[in-house]
Amino acid sequence: MEPSLHFSIPFFIFSFLGFNLPYCFLLSFLALLPDFDVFFKVHRSATHSFLVYLPILFLALLIYSFNVQISLVFLAVYFSFTSHVLLDTLGGYTLALWPMVKDELSISFNFNIKFGSSFSLIPKVSLSKKKHTRAYFKEFEVRFATGEGLIISSILLLASLFKLIKLS
Ligand SMILES: [Zn+2]
Repeated sequence: MEPSLHFSIPFFIFSFLGFNLPYCFLLSFLALLPDFDVFFKVHRSATHSFLVYLPILFLALLIYSFNVQISLVFLAVYFSFTSHVLLDTLGGYTLALWPMVKDELSISFNFNIKFGSSFSLIPKVSLSKKKHTRAYFKEFEVRFATGEGLIISSILLLASLFKLIKLS
């Protein structure tokens, strides 16, 4: 999934959960970090595993009894990272459960509507996997932005900013 959506979706959620603008910005920036694996000439690597971020969740739970506010920040950090993993897993193959599952996983979710002689709703959810290749890339080309992504991101960010400004 493209960076603008990785940023704007958590930004939208955090703004509606009541986080202020600096927190929304910083937490949403964290959601971009899993893609920084490209600087190591790999992509959708271990940084795209739900399990890698579990220590942050455990920390949030540990801190909860001492300081709820800080615990919620850790929970938000966990959500930021894993939102990236979830979005990429819905859009393609990632090492979502590495190191427990060494294969790359992808979740496909479609909801079709059939018209014609009959009408029916056809939900399709499937989990597929493929063998992970540890190859380092020499060149890497990825879809950085699309018209759809930019429009959706703009709407989400504008709605968030409207909410944040209205509250302050
Ligand atoms: Zn990614």
